[in-house]
Formats: sequence, structure tokens, C-alpha cells
Amino acid sequence: MIPVIKPYLGADEAEAAAAAVRSGWVAQGPRVAEFERAFASLIGATEGVAASSCTTALHLMLHVLGAGAGDEIVVPSLSFIATANAVRYTGARPVFADVDQLTGNLSWVTVEPLLTERTRAVLVVHQAGVPADVDPLRRGCDTLGIPVVEDAACAAGSTYHGRPVGSGALAAAWSFHPRKVLTTGEGGMVTTNRHDWAGRMRRLREHGMDVSAADRHRSTQPVIERYLEVGFNYRMTDIHAAIGLVQLGKLEAMIVRRRALAAHYQQMLADVPGIRTVADPPYGSTNYQSFWIELDEQFPIGRDHLLALLHAQGVSCRRGIMATHLEPAYADMSYQPLPVTERLTARTMILPLYHTLTDVEQDHVVDVLAGAAEGRGAA
Ligand SMILES: *Cc1c(COP(=O)(O)O)cnc(C)c1O
Repeated sequence: MIPVIKPYLGADEAEAAAAAVRSGWVAQGPRVAEFERAFASLIGATEGVAASSCTTALHLMLHVLGAGAGDEIVVPSLSFIATANAVRYTGARPVFADVDQLTGNLSWVTVEPLLTERTRAVLVVHQAGVPADVDPLRRGCDTLGIPVVEDAACAAGSTYHGRPVGSGALAAAWSFHPRKVLTTGEGGMVTTNRHDWAGRMRRLREHGMDVSAADRHRSTQPVIERYLEVGFNYRMTDIHAAIGLVQLGKLEAMIVRRRALAAHYQQMLADVPGIRTVADPPYGSTNYQSFWIELDEQFPIGRDHLLALLHAQGVSCRRGIMATHLEPAYADMSYQPLPVTERLTARTMILPLYHTLTDVEQDHVVDVLAGAAEGRGAA
């Protein structure tokens, strides 16, 4: 079976994790601090605040933004459910905007009609690693005094106008889940240039304490900590950060490999009727965290049928990006019509793409797709 993804982990990550264990400092400590500095500098932000996941990072980010009951936050429905869930943790209401057909991302055109005096922020997602066109969104929102923050969970290594995605962000949240390009096992981070927000997020992730456990440990004097506000336990561990530091050194090579594999898919699928492949937008480059295709009405079989067909021939694929508003957990929420979101979630699927995918395996995936397009194997 060809899996849809496989994390690119090796002996170096295992050794780094073992070294963290041997050091005796396994919770949040010096390796987390080092990983924060290294990741933020790669992204081009002055501050990195590590967290236990992107979901908790998103919650911290929205919390310091001041989101709460009575607020609206504009988000795409076409995203992993954690995007909208993080809004709900704050008590604010997610307002679902539709997405651009080509990128699957929010745009100023889809967001603008939904902005009201209750809009606390816009949370834009760089879906599947495809950079969203954030400049027009920021320009439009700036004139209204509405902050734009970013869910960059999938987008480590993607670029926007030649710079890393997230480099110009007010704040961006990242995921290091194995389903993403760069992994720590579980983990997340907020990057920002706001020193005040970073300080508050560091406190909030550690129960609202005014001194971190690491600082207290290092102190030569007994330190009595104080709890300044109600916080959370959203810490990353040094074991995770040790793995992340090794992965950071591989990121560039991983992106090069993913982009080569994506180019190969694009080339081989270009002549297959009824299939559109994800591609770089004109203003940036994607890390191809997920390589998705869209089936148009010409394609002889439906998406779910094609998934089953691929599975029967040893290829594990996934449906495309989910639509949050269609899930039972969101059944009680009202929303504007989302025709592009509903089309993309119904007609897209994700193909295998990972560092060690071989040419033979990739050719097999394409053969099954090309066969299905010609009506072969579609019994
Ligand atoms: C994966 C993902 C998340 C959640 O990341 P975790 O680290 O698993 O919490 C949030 N938003 C998007 C867009 C994602 O793809």
C-alpha cells in the first residue's frame, strides 16, 4: 500500500530525542527556547512561542488578540476543523467566508462582504501549504482597523512574494503534527513581531505564571511564583523540540523534494481529462503539504468512487480539505452560502506525496488515475 504521507524522520531525530531524555530535562526547557529562536528566525519573525499543538497555538493567538463572547472572527469553512474550533474556545463566533476556487483560500473578495462592527479579526488559512493572497486582505482590513492573523499550520517553507509565508504576519500559528511537512510528533508555535503578545502567550501557556518553570529552576534564589491570570497548560516538551531542531535542518531539502514530486504529478496529469492539479499561485510558492486534485464534471466517476478504486489498487488517498460547516459539531450555526467551499470539498482529493515516494510508486498512482479517466477499472 502506498500511504498518502510518511513523515521524514531518521536516526538523527531519534538521537536528539534520546539526548533530551538523558539530559533529565524532558518538559519545556532550553531545547524549546532554542527551537523557538530557530523557527522564528527562519520565518522572519522576532518572536516564536512554542505550544503543544497548532490548535493550542491558535487559541493562545486569538486569546491575546482579545477575542471573546460577542465577537465575530471570519474564517474559512474549508479548513481542518481546528481553525474554527479555536475561535469557539474563546467564546467568539466563527463567520464562514467562501474561498477562491484556484487556491482554496480566503481572499479580500470573499471576506469583505462579511465584515461588520463585531468583526474582531480575520483568520486566514494557507490551506494545504498554498499561500493565501494576504496583502489585499491586510490593506482592506487595515482601513477598517480589523487585524488579520494567520493559520499557517501547513505552510512552513511556502513563500509569498519571495519571502517566507508568515514573515509579514501580525501573528501566525504553525503545526508540527506528522501530517505537516516539518514534525515534532505533536507541536505548534505562534510567530509574531509583537513582543508584548509573545510575553503574554508564554505566560498563558504555563498557567499564567509570572516566572517560567525553567527560569525558576535556574534561579539561585528560591522563587515564589504568582499566577497573574487564568492560563492553560499548552507547553511543548524538550523531547519534541529536540526533534524539531533536527527537522529544521532538513526543511529546505524536504521542500525541494516535495516540489519536484509535485512538478512530476503536474506534468504527468496534464493530459488526463477531467483533472485539475493544485499549483503555485502567481504571487508565491507552495510547499505542497498536501497535493490535491479537483475532478471536474467530465470525469467519468465520482470522487468517492475514485478513492475506493485507488485503494483497491494499493494507493491510499484522502478526500480533499473538509468543510467545517457541514460537520455535526457546527450544525447549529448559521452561515452564508458557500458554493466554492462545497464544490472543492466534494470534488477534491489528496494524492500520496512524501519525501521517500519513489518514481515507480508515483507512476502507479498516475496510471490508476489515467485509467479511471478513460473508464478503465471503474466497475
Ligand atoms: C493541522 C491543522 C491544524 C491543527 O494542527 P495541530 O497541530 O494538529 O493542532 C490547524 N489548522 C490547519 C489549517 C491544519 O491543517
